[in-house]
Amino acid sequence: MAWRSSGATNEALIENLARNGLIKQERVKKAMLGVDRAHYAPYAPYEDSPQTIGHRATISAPHMHAAACESLLPYLRPGAHVLDIGSGSGYLTHVLAELVKPGGKVVGVEHIQPLVEMGTGNTRKSAEGRDLMDNGGIRYVKADGRLGWPQDAPYDAIHVGAAAAGFHQALIDQLKAPGRLFMPVEEDHMQHIYVIDKKEDGTVTKTKDMGVRYVPLTDAPTD
Ligand code: SAH
Repeated sequence: MAWRSSGATNEALIENLARNGLIKQERVKKAMLGVDRAHYAPYAPYEDSPQTIGHRATISAPHMHAAACESLLPYLRPGAHVLDIGSGSGYLTHVLAELVKPGGKVVGVEHIQPLVEMGTGNTRKSAEGRDLMDNGGIRYVKADGRLGWPQDAPYDAIHVGAAAAGFHQALIDQLKAPGRLFMPVEEDHMQHIYVIDKKEDGTVTKTKDMGVRYVPLTDAPTD
């Protein structure tokens, strides 16, 4: 299903994702049309597949970026605060920032310094990205994302772009009530997306979703 959404241009890719039902909501489509994947994926940017970006990281497939935005969308209102853990290429960080404009703020957390720089450099390739970086709409920081980023908490929405070994209470603690966390979790050698909702009264529910394959959320490599 996924590969059938590939296109010759950014617009064709996004239109195909929408036609195949992988993008359902107009706001997600508009935000993804507004960010050219060629600024973030080093080759074949309009293919619906993950691609290596070096440092053992990959830019996730467009349909996974779409799924994350579709799920988090009720919490991605103008002015919202968002955390993107494992920001890698910076692509999703930028799309999330488009969705919370104006007045929103997205922090991209990455534990490999060259990838912090890659995300920053990629985002600065477009005028929209430069504006977001210059007015505080996007910030990239180097940190261990398993601890979240308490400095700017609480967040309306948190996205985790690498498979966690557990639910990381620090991330749940940094969610607003209401708020939503979208993360891949590894259990018994299988990975699934979990959507974790914190309701207004503070109660937390975890909903298991699709099976996936992500880079692990780990200690930073030392070699
Ligand atoms: N959303 C990114 C995904 C990149 S792959 C994109 O689509 O481009 C997953 C990323 O998580 C990698 O860049 C990896 O370096 C990062 N990562 C892994 N463990 C981490 C940790 N503990 N803290 C922060 N980032 C981490």
